Amino acid sequence: MKKTVFCVIAHPDDEAFGPSGTLAILAKTYDVHVICVTDGASDPRFHPIGGKTLSDMRKEELKASGEALGIHSLHMLGFQDGTLNNNQYHEVAAKLQKLVDVYKPKLIVTNELRGVSGHLDHVAVAMISSYIYRENKSIDAIWYSCTTKSSSNLMGKYFVFFPPGFDREEVDMVVNVRAVFTKKIAAARCHKSQQKDALRVIAKWMISPKEELFFVTKRRDTFVIA
Ligand SMILES: [Zn+2]
Repeated sequence: MKKTVFCVIAHPDDEAFGPSGTLAILAKTYDVHVICVTDGASDPRFHPIGGKTLSDMRKEELKASGEALGIHSLHMLGFQDGTLNNNQYHEVAAKLQKLVDVYKPKLIVTNELRGVSGHLDHVAVAMISSYIYRENKSIDAIWYSCTTKSSSNLMGKYFVFFPPGFDREEVDMVVNVRAVFTKKIAAARCHKSQQKDALRVIAKWMISPKEELFFVTKRRDTFVIA
């Protein structure tokens, strides 16, 4: 039986703009499940199109992105975008724990503890995933996706403090994603409601090393792909 990997994200698109290449590589060997904590529907610029809400659209986009990456299964936890905080920590953790009990993941992939971009939903997701990892000794490892110094410098003005990224020498694992780069681009393109971000991110990837960076906490060396 294939081992299960959980990728825990805050918003539809965090899988694509984050560790998508690594997910595509993992999906060749393992059952990769994406668990998306919020519906990503707090964009005030959006107006419903053809009866579709932003929540519907973003779910469809995430589904398409998952298909591009070879993701096995998608779970939406249904929390409101932009609202994750201490009040829901335990509620989110309980929902995540239920999925852990059913699917018994051996690896969790999530974003780094500063939330990559400093987005507080991302920070919450990293904290809750860390808690789940700590409490479930059956999980072999947790990989925290982060960004490079050069790409965080390219972000320009962001709505909250954007922490500096890392040099490849500073992280625990560098995954070469060249072989799945077209899947990475395809997944990002699926997020049509976020097209501006997608185009900016893709342009950045084109001129950057085809690598994804991670911090790793592990109990066992089961997952080595770098
Ligand atoms: Zn996000």
